[in-house]
Amino acid sequence: MTLPKAHEWIQEMAPYVPGRSTVEGITEPVKLSSNESAFGASPKALEAFKATAGTLMRYPDANSEALREAIADIHKLDADKIMCGAGSDELLTLLIHTFAGPGDEVIYSQYGFMVYPVQTRAVGATGIAVPNKNWAADIDGILDAVTEDTKLVFIDNPNNPTGAYNTWAEIERLHAALPESVVLVLDAAYAECVTAQDYQAGEALVERANNVIMTRTFSKMYALAGLRVGWAYGAPGIIDVIGRVRMPFNVCVPGHPAAIEAVRDQNHLRASVAFNTKWRLWLADQLRALDLGVIDSQTNFILVEFPKGDKCALACNEFLTSRGYLVRALPPLPDHLRISLGTAEQNQGVIALIKEFLGS
Ligand SMILES: *Cc1c(COP(=O)(O)O)cnc(C)c1O
Repeated sequence: MTLPKAHEWIQEMAPYVPGRSTVEGITEPVKLSSNESAFGASPKALEAFKATAGTLMRYPDANSEALREAIADIHKLDADKIMCGAGSDELLTLLIHTFAGPGDEVIYSQYGFMVYPVQTRAVGATGIAVPNKNWAADIDGILDAVTEDTKLVFIDNPNNPTGAYNTWAEIERLHAALPESVVLVLDAAYAECVTAQDYQAGEALVERANNVIMTRTFSKMYALAGLRVGWAYGAPGIIDVIGRVRMPFNVCVPGHPAAIEAVRDQNHLRASVAFNTKWRLWLADQLRALDLGVIDSQTNFILVEFPKGDKCALACNEFLTSRGYLVRALPPLPDHLRISLGTAEQNQGVIALIKEFLGS
């Protein structure tokens, strides 16, 4: 008997393990493990979401026309170069499925967003993980890794899980040295909360190059992760081909008006970013005062290094979990924990627990 058989490279894949969200015996754990917003979405976006209940028998607009127009209007972009997706995850996945297959190479940083290696494997392409430099992408390392088989380069800028970023000058230098046949993907999921002055998300490069695409999301600073809405801004040739592969109704009915109201409510976004900046500084200061290694973050989370021995990261993770605080342990970085920013009370709570754990 011959049973159905997946591609060999897929059989070898390990399933994705998401950030933990439950603890036995604790009814409402504090979830600081998935970089979700603690500030919450625009009330206008939530109202718009609720108002869609009566229209759920309809398919959504297949071209996300109104949402693309709203994004273009706020960001001063060309709506024709925007594509919306079921989270930016969908758009990142589409890029890999469209441009790479067996025999092709996809470059990303060793410590970076999980979607790139997972989807690269899914299409049978070869992933090239380049060691990070100062926790961000190593531009020269990436350029050295380019071969005739390279199809895509992914830069999560700022990087998840490190929180570090590459300056715009570095990104421009990377692009200038990259063959035009290679697609440069600038994954700017945290662009809204970056405060560094020498950062840019990528629009400017998209406007003047044919091989660049930037991805953005409503999941982080806009606090709509549950709705799954993201967008990309790319060279027309790239938008055209990924558009042929994507599913026609990829952004759901409630997702459209909610995201439109969210992007129009820039006052709410500013408040969300101010909250994020304030607590990011506070948390980093507190962790440094405990003599822990803190990587400068431009995101809504902080990667913290623990000493080896009985006060190690995994022991701290167990301690926090037992007290109902969920942070992220990362198998490739066993000495670190990634802590997403929470509410004021949750941030104070996690610091108090880490102090208790360290006995300081
Ligand atoms: C959170 C995140 C995303 C995307 O999330 P979606 O919810 O799919 O839009 C993309 N890239 C990075 C680096 C992220 O951290």
